[in-house]
Amino acid sequence: MSVVVVGSVALDSVKTPFGERANALGGSAVYFSYSASFFSDIKLVGVVGRDFPTPHLDLLRRRKINLDGLQVADGETFRWSGFYEYDLNEAKTLDTRLNVFEKFSPNLPDAYRNADCVFLANIDPDLQIRVLRQVRRPKLIAADTMNLWISTKKESLKALCREIDILVLNDGEARQLSGKASLIQAGRLIQSWGPKFVVVKKGEHGVLLFSKKNVFAAPAYPLEEVFDPTGAGDTFAGGFIGYLNKKGNRLDENTLHQALFYGTVMASFTVEKFSLERLLTVRPPDIKRRLTVLHRMSRPSTL
Ligand code: AMP
Repeated sequence: MSVVVVGSVALDSVKTPFGERANALGGSAVYFSYSASFFSDIKLVGVVGRDFPTPHLDLLRRRKINLDGLQVADGETFRWSGFYEYDLNEAKTLDTRLNVFEKFSPNLPDAYRNADCVFLANIDPDLQIRVLRQVRRPKLIAADTMNLWISTKKESLKALCREIDILVLNDGEARQLSGKASLIQAGRLIQSWGPKFVVVKKGEHGVLLFSKKNVFAAPAYPLEEVFDPTGAGDTFAGGFIGYLNKKGNRLDENTLHQALFYGTVMASFTVEKFSLERLLTVRPPDIKRRLTVLHRMSRPSTL
């Protein structure tokens, strides 16, 4: 079982009410891969510039993340800078510098083309589609996106929706993409464009999973302090998709619900510190402990 992921590998500059970091390791593919590596074999597709610090690559290699699909190009690494106010659910972008992503042409190594699962992490949807074209017969295809691509490449995103099993996006993005104020209407409409399942992330309010017949809700892990939410969505997707892949890409409701819980637990670590600082110290028993808490809090004692 293995997951091919394409997405950004970034140097992030982030400010929250609790502190700030400049040029820290980030990017949708990085958070996803690190998180998913607790469950499955990960093969990363992306690009960095010659300025990308080698210790960052070592940190991914230590989790056995395959980097054969990571190109090193002339130019600077993708950079994102943003800030959060006290409402940590909303990231405000200050600057996005695509840099080496502007000329990036993904070319999957042979060993990647037979992957049974593909995750198209947040990146230009045209690049997401190009990666998808190179994978032979994946059993599970999932994708993420963000406001920038919804406003600049909506048609490419709708084309992508026709080809995927699961779309993961946050509440603001679901409203923006669908043009619907009601999240229930938004989830249903987006689902009608193609994906079998739509996962709507609601930050501290948990997630909604739209399937053909049902809407399932899972809570967020009850953290007392959130330090920096950057990467929470990608880390969630890593736990969610990594677990589904480990279970043979099964998409029955019970497996999907378990996967939502694993994604939620992984995201709860990321937000406790900047960048990947907290994730680096996570061990499997920490995941189990938080999973037990989450199960307890979402099970009524009587019906
Ligand atoms: P999230 O999980 O939604 O908080 O995603 C945070 C990550 O998304 C950061 O590490 C950024 O580097 C990355 N990011 C921000 N803007 C973009 C973009 N336009 N394309 C790809 N990745 C981005």
